[in-house]
Amino acid sequence: MPMSPDFKHRLFPSLQAIAAHYGTPFHIYDEVGIRATGAQLKKAFASIKGFQEFYAVKALPNKAILKIMREMGFGFDCSSIPELILSRELGAKAEDIMFTSNNTAPHEFAAALGEGGCILNLDDISLIDKVPNFPELVCFRYNPGPRRTGNLIIGNPVEAKYGVTHEQVVDAYRQARARGASRFGLHTMVASNELDYTYMVETARMVLDLAARLEKELGIRLEFVNIGGGFGIPYRPDQAPLNIDAMAREITALFTAFGAEHGYQPAMFMESGRFMTGPHGALVTTAINHKDTYRRYVGVDACMSALMRPALYEAYHHIDVLGKENAAKSETCDVVGSLCENNDKFAVQRELPPIDEGDLLVIHDTGAHGHAMGFQYNGRLRPKELLLRANGTVELIRRAETLEDYFATCNFTPDVMQTN
Ligand SMILES: *Cc1c(COP(=O)(O)O)cnc(C)c1O
Repeated sequence: MPMSPDFKHRLFPSLQAIAAHYGTPFHIYDEVGIRATGAQLKKAFASIKGFQEFYAVKALPNKAILKIMREMGFGFDCSSIPELILSRELGAKAEDIMFTSNNTAPHEFAAALGEGGCILNLDDISLIDKVPNFPELVCFRYNPGPRRTGNLIIGNPVEAKYGVTHEQVVDAYRQARARGASRFGLHTMVASNELDYTYMVETARMVLDLAARLEKELGIRLEFVNIGGGFGIPYRPDQAPLNIDAMAREITALFTAFGAEHGYQPAMFMESGRFMTGPHGALVTTAINHKDTYRRYVGVDACMSALMRPALYEAYHHIDVLGKENAAKSETCDVVGSLCENNDKFAVQRELPPIDEGDLLVIHDTGAHGHAMGFQYNGRLRPKELLLRANGTVELIRRAETLEDYFATCNFTPDVMQTN
């Protein structure tokens, strides 16, 4: 089931007024829902000592949201300098930041290890010699290759650009130790938007097996294993949510068994983005045009600059028409933006109630990988972001982009060089 009934109950009665006050389009996020999901994760994994969520900043890099994550005690998963800056501005210290970059440049290592530092998660064995001041604590991203199947969004592990291979991994730790590391973690991320909880259980089993192998071959006891993000959410009405409780129960049993066998237990980390905020956001947009040609089109005042997932992944996002949630879905249409790209569509051949111009459309589940992915192609700017607070107030947490923002990069010092 998409967007929770609770979020709907909190949002829909005041949505007309919110739209009148702020103007559409906008993404709006639900503080109560985000906190409830955070509490659910913490409770489910409470029996694993040292359990920690590192929110994947790229999913929703907004300070107001990240502040909520900090208040819940979560760290941050970062892979770029702006994400590091954001996390540090919110008070994250070294061990609150997993820096999981790939194809990393020297200045990025310097930024990650400078200032407050981070937990450095290396994506490749060749990077070991490129880290300027090798840290005491280091982690590697493991790619199991043909040992696991991936899925559509992240791809098959053997084709995925991430991580060190099964054959390289022991040597990676050996080399890191030779460079002075004395504390170690292990990371992996093999699925994205996965709704089958047993897949995550297998991931935990895989990293624990590797932890045992590292101790056997190198005498290294891992401080933590990080099972990555990739926890799925049901975008379609007929999908069941990920069974977090069953997943936590089975993973906890694996950790307990590991502890009994080996006499120690690594902590468990995860870096959920989508699961934490995806269902707790919606894109609200106004219908502004109708067009009847070979198909019926409904044109809205947002476009793919606000939500790329349908175009990138053919992703489904459920749509409600405000005030017509229970009306018969008697029309089939494409819901489109105004960008000059034929994949600028929020829905394709979707059955919806008849839509009048001026109706508000609520596009569900845009709280992760929504606003953040947007681009400015075709001069289409990104919309504002709002936060529905627990006390019922609504707060602007990012303004819409302006023409000045768009043209800002055209202001520069002239620089011409003569060739020949
Ligand atoms: C994108 C990403 C995540 C978050 O993925 P979700 O699907 O949002 O859970 C976590 N870790 C890493 C390394 C990522 O690149």
